Amino acid sequence: MKTDAFALRHIGPRENDLQHMLNTIGAESIEQLIYETLPDDIRLKAPLNLEPALTEYEFLNHIQQLGNKNKVFKSYIGLGYHPAIVPAAIQRNVFENPGWYTAYTPYQAEIAQGRLEALLNYQTTVIELSGMEIANASLLDEGTAAAEAMALLFDVRTRDQKKNNVNKFFVSEEILPQTLSVLQTRSTPIGVELVVGNHEDFAFGADFFGAILQYPGKYGQVFDYAGFISKANTNEIKVAVAADILSLVKLTSPGEMGAAVVVGTTQRFGIPMGYGGPHAAFFATKEEYKRSMPGRIIGVTVDTNGNRALRMALQTREQHIKREKATSNICTAQVLLAVMAGMYAVYHGPKGLEYIADKVHASAVTTAEALNQLGVYQTNTAFFDTIVVKADAVKVKAIAERNEFNFYYIDNDTIAIAFNETTSISDINTILAIFAEAAGKETVTVTALATQINYPQGLNRTSTFLTHEVFNKHHSETALMRYIKKLERKDLALNHSMISLGSCTMKLNAAAEMLPLSMPNWNNIHPFAPIEQAAGYQTMLKKLEEQLNVVTGFAGTTLQPNSGAQGEYAGLMVIRAYHQSRGDHHRNIALIPASAHGTNPASAALAGMKIIVTKTTEEGNIDVEDLRAKAIEHKDNLSCLMVTYPSTHGVYEASIIEITKLIHENGGQVYMDGANMNAQVGLTNPATIGADVCHLNLHKTFAIPHGGGGPGVGPICVAEHLVPFLPTNPVIPTGGETAITAISAAPWGSALVCLISYGYITMLGAEGLTNATKYAILNANYIKARLSGHYDTLYSGEMGRAAHEMILECRPFKEKGIEVTDIAKRLMDYGFHAPTVSFPVAGTLMIEPTESENLEELDRFCDAMIAIRKEIEAATAEEKNNVLKNAPHTLAMLTTDTWDFPYTRQEAAFPLEYISDNKFWPSVRRVDDAYGDRNLICSCAPIEAYMEN
Ligand SMILES: *Cc1c(COP(=O)(O)O)cnc(C)c1O
Repeated sequence: MKTDAFALRHIGPRENDLQHMLNTIGAESIEQLIYETLPDDIRLKAPLNLEPALTEYEFLNHIQQLGNKNKVFKSYIGLGYHPAIVPAAIQRNVFENPGWYTAYTPYQAEIAQGRLEALLNYQTTVIELSGMEIANASLLDEGTAAAEAMALLFDVRTRDQKKNNVNKFFVSEEILPQTLSVLQTRSTPIGVELVVGNHEDFAFGADFFGAILQYPGKYGQVFDYAGFISKANTNEIKVAVAADILSLVKLTSPGEMGAAVVVGTTQRFGIPMGYGGPHAAFFATKEEYKRSMPGRIIGVTVDTNGNRALRMALQTREQHIKREKATSNICTAQVLLAVMAGMYAVYHGPKGLEYIADKVHASAVTTAEALNQLGVYQTNTAFFDTIVVKADAVKVKAIAERNEFNFYYIDNDTIAIAFNETTSISDINTILAIFAEAAGKETVTVTALATQINYPQGLNRTSTFLTHEVFNKHHSETALMRYIKKLERKDLALNHSMISLGSCTMKLNAAAEMLPLSMPNWNNIHPFAPIEQAAGYQTMLKKLEEQLNVVTGFAGTTLQPNSGAQGEYAGLMVIRAYHQSRGDHHRNIALIPASAHGTNPASAALAGMKIIVTKTTEEGNIDVEDLRAKAIEHKDNLSCLMVTYPSTHGVYEASIIEITKLIHENGGQVYMDGANMNAQVGLTNPATIGADVCHLNLHKTFAIPHGGGGPGVGPICVAEHLVPFLPTNPVIPTGGETAITAISAAPWGSALVCLISYGYITMLGAEGLTNATKYAILNANYIKARLSGHYDTLYSGEMGRAAHEMILECRPFKEKGIEVTDIAKRLMDYGFHAPTVSFPVAGTLMIEPTESENLEELDRFCDAMIAIRKEIEAATAEEKNNVLKNAPHTLAMLTTDTWDFPYTRQEAAFPLEYISDNKFWPSVRRVDDAYGDRNLICSCAPIEAYMEN
């Protein structure tokens, strides 16, 4: 046996555990187990056609060599992406630290106080720089954030009688091109009409509900929008502003000008460009729109003892609850990147940020002046970091590329140069030399940065920001390192124990998959760099697309969507375009089973579809007769079925082929939600079950870490007939021949983290991938077997097997006064993160162990669940003072002098022996959600200004 095979590292159970596990399950072999689990008619007959697996060492060499094909030029392209200095302390302690990147979305607040605090810092930074009242904890990118702003303004317009039937949205022609494309995609299906124009000519017509401006404009001109916004507000037209976060350090904030929403990216706050992403987009608005705000909001509340605690606020706004009434489908966001950007603000503080912003501005001013001396004229009358010069673009481009510099070439004689944090005097002199050479002149040399200001006096920011202590005390590396560690210790991540989140597939994020993200020849490339400079990326992305085609059985893939929900939306838009290409403009009905994830109906609503919910049988399967009736009833207008496979009930429905056939017979397409792809890879695939398109959550099945709630990558894979409609990008074309407009801002979405999935597939190969699926099924069935007799499993396949996950029935415990939440909180005392709570069935737990967990860990988890079951047995509905209701137990509780609970301290915190060896202490007692929702505070509490020195 090859002991250096990556599969042996990725897959948890050891060969000599296998027999014991199979005995427990009651299966003769893995093959027999799989046979009893997966319907035979959908089983693949041949192994996946992939290249032989590489070892970790081989992969890292390969990725190093491929990286050398990327040419890392100095980037002055701008357009929303800038080189940034990732502080080494943040790179090492957050970005490269599994304590941060393997955490789950902070639904279990008591064991997530660290990242919740980091996100509160992020929100505070956004609120104060934008001048708004509330902010969320990140969106996917600036383009989609702008689209969310449009959707919010469209949604809230009905609060104003006069605007009820108004559908026009003004878009300044200064908007970034990729943002415009995303707005186009999002506007049409929901019935918004975009009107693009010059904001100075806008007539504030009564038929407009909103507008969006870019601040500074796409090529750097700084406009004073105060007059526009005030006039718009008088005319009840709400204004969103897409703003550059660094410029807000120096310029009057859009909030102070009266904006209703401010969006943008925090990429230049210490996040690598990564050929397009991932980066955290920000979204800030007014308190009055809090219920319409997309995404997750971190808020302050109290715990059982009245101590300050954080948690995700106002969750009833989210798509899980709103389903087809949702105006946003955002689920996975960009938490890890938001944490990093927030830490960047913590580390630099207001003075450090000001220093950086001043330096960037001074670099632009200095260069503009020196170019002027060369006779190269600059045309922006006011600017922060980007200048526009008149010169022969063809000549300049050739010389610039020889010097390894990229500018943005607007047309043949107009060039934009965007300055950034990394610009040095020497870089400025190179830029001058390039332009001098193009003009055939002697160059001029600068030795110091200019000090004058080149934006309007009236826009000089006068309001203070980041005065809270947290932004003013962690400025030495020791202080920052300890602050990051202090927060990390409050959070339970995969580096502590199994996180068995059903549907979310929290598997190993292997170090060898992660290492390439830190390599400079991968992370420092601008998404709009000339494509030939990104040869390494182009090869890697193409290979990944091909690998995903093989895995899904489909013909084409786009990597553009940067979350699963974004993929759903992309897939539905592709289906929409396909129907329209055949003249079927009326096909707009989406059939969605009741058990679907909330993002499914939300995405369908965004794609302008009418949602019809189909029934589920008692066995948890799609009710085929109900589906047939509805498909036939709506056959003239049927657009598609959205189906998750295996179902969210953890079962491979035997009738899937019949179901997909039925949809096709009635003129519809089949969209498969691929969140459960971990139960398919190598055994079956979406093409085989009859789907036309699916999304994959690369952050579930394909090993991208959850990052505490993002980043994600949600590519869609499509059958041949849908390939022409895959989305493009307005700057670097991608996609099919009759491509739809952009789904997200960057041509290949969050390209940097695609390296992880590429590594996962390349190192596992066909056999490793297939074994991963088999072991995921084995581990799930092992847990099912061990818990049987203690907990009922809600649904099973026809031969009694679970797929890769299972739902545990917890509703009967209500008789004992125990809710499923009590079990979730009690698991913390046992050192475990709860499985998925109340999805897809309220009052249940959905467990998915994944293939990465070993037998010892599965046993510890089962021991904990069984011990909790005994505690439930001992509970009574009358007595609320018990070990479950009081869970989780903190160290502070345990070490008080008086202990007046009706159980011992040991029963509270060390109920099983294994715990004392590796105790995890929740840092707060149970949080009070209702209190926090009544008193929404989503920034660091304002305190007296605390400044260093
Ligand atoms: C996770 C999940 C989604 C949404 O994916 P995101 O990446 O969070 O947007 C959709 N459907 C199912 C079944 C899921 O588990």
